[in-house]
Amino acid sequence: MSLQAERMDAELPRNSFDSTAARRRCRAYRKRILDISQQVAALHVAPAFSCIEITDLLYNSLMRREANGGYRDVFLMSKGHGCMIQYVILEEQGLLSRQDLDLYCKPNGRLGAHPDYETPGIVASTGSLGHGLGMATGQAYAEKLKGTDTLIYCVLSDGEFQEGSTWEAVMMAANLRLDNLIAFMDYNDFGGLERMSEGHQAFYPLVPKAEAFGWESIEVDGHDEEAMLDAAIGRRGGRPLLVVCRTVKGKGISYMENVPIWHYRSPNKEEYQQGLRELAEGAG
Ligand SMILES: [Mg+2]
Repeated sequence: MSLQAERMDAELPRNSFDSTAARRRCRAYRKRILDISQQVAALHVAPAFSCIEITDLLYNSLMRREANGGYRDVFLMSKGHGCMIQYVILEEQGLLSRQDLDLYCKPNGRLGAHPDYETPGIVASTGSLGHGLGMATGQAYAEKLKGTDTLIYCVLSDGEFQEGSTWEAVMMAANLRLDNLIAFMDYNDFGGLERMSEGHQAFYPLVPKAEAFGWESIEVDGHDEEAMLDAAIGRRGGRPLLVVCRTVKGKGISYMENVPIWHYRSPNKEEYQQGLRELAEGAG
């Protein structure tokens, strides 16, 4: 581990992580997203549900805060269609208002189906897939040039690895030895409506492939925040890190899990009520 990585890791919050509180937050986020889904005809519920634990970990545990309450580290959501989880966390933090979310995808609202950098708390406009890792690589390099210890976290989908631009960023980050770049792949085995494992066999094996490109990589359960936290903290340094997070698209709602149509659909009233019941039953 480099001296810089060692110093940074010493400040990460392993001992203060509260798994019970994290589960409670994630359940509340899922409920809030379900509530919002009743205001609009179509919303990316399932893609957001697969990366809720990843995003919660970043905002509420992993990213370091400044004395003024802002973040010292940077989060970039490359899979822009998963941004509902970002919106509800930013609402919780007071950067977005309840009215902002009530007007999601409506006339006069400022929140669209994909994140916009002019929104408070969002650093990059994404949703055109395959660009987020390149932006994160550029920002990580800029931080290196400035001599800061800022960490750049990027959440990207497995489907984005169908884009050549993602692989260009993978190579560039390795060339530049950007050990301040930590990427979390939301590995839900879907690229839109298609199974990655059925349509893109050359994508595998993931961890050896990332290592062959010059990254450090580890595969963990993407709904287990402690496992992901350990992966980030335990990195050796000197190289960028890719955490391959095994996830379930639509995680937490039985009729959504791994069912392709839920990539882009809002539950009807009956489905909404069932979703609420299942979230309540899964409380623990
Ligand atoms: Mg996917």
